Amino acid sequence: MSGDRDKRTISPDPERMEVFIEAMTPPGPVHLQDLELEALAAGVPIIRPQTQNLLRFFLTMKRPSRILEIGTAVGFSALFMQHYAPAECRIITIEKDRVRAQKARENFARYGRISTEDGQTGITLMEGDAIEVLGGIREDASFDLVFMDAAKGQYIRFLPDAVRLLGSGGLLITDNILQEGEVLSSRFAVTRRNRTIHARMRTYIRALMEEERLETLLLPTGDGAAVSLKK
Ligand code: SAH
Ligand code: MG
Repeated sequence: MSGDRDKRTISPDPERMEVFIEAMTPPGPVHLQDLELEALAAGVPIIRPQTQNLLRFFLTMKRPSRILEIGTAVGFSALFMQHYAPAECRIITIEKDRVRAQKARENFARYGRISTEDGQTGITLMEGDAIEVLGGIREDASFDLVFMDAAKGQYIRFLPDAVRLLGSGGLLITDNILQEGEVLSSRFAVTRRNRTIHARMRTYIRALMEEERLETLLLPTGDGAAVSLKK
């Protein structure tokens, strides 16, 4: 039986798939293209093209008015989300690295969409360790979308706050859940250095799947993504 099932599964080479999807995706606005190239040249991590498509899809579907991002880097994904979210959407994004946070502020000033209400960009950067910053955000159930894209080993620590801060019908999107496929391997096949993070990511994925307030879909998109709907 399982043999028949295997034959029906289409498993295209992920690299070819990525090249294909990139080729099929129309280029975004020029400021995001520039920022993407700049970040890649500087070795700053940013969401991959397939993850961009995934975010764009859910932003269009959900039309969030408040977004929380954990892991700003230099602000590419925050600016990306702002571009595809409704004009009045407010984004809070958290970054602990001082240099990256500063660069992100510059990028928000340069490329951020200015709100007609108060003349601000609509993106607020909160500098600090996400575990502390999250604990300080008191408005429960006030976000429509949480994008988790920080240190992978810490996702499990951020999860209770992410669930608390999401409103009913809100989405938690988690990036990099498969770590280049390593999370799929037996823990004995991964290097010692990666073993802790491997275990933590599996714990996180299991926690997402078992969390009663969430309904979660695991996707091989990009470096692996989880889309969780708060019930
Ligand atoms: N979302 C960004 C990429 C983020 S890379 C984009 O696509 O444009 C992950 C970032 O998370 C790094 O800049 C890292 O400094 C930050 N980070 C890691 N652990 C963190 C923590 N505990 N609190 C806050 N930021 C953290
Ligand atoms: Mg990432």
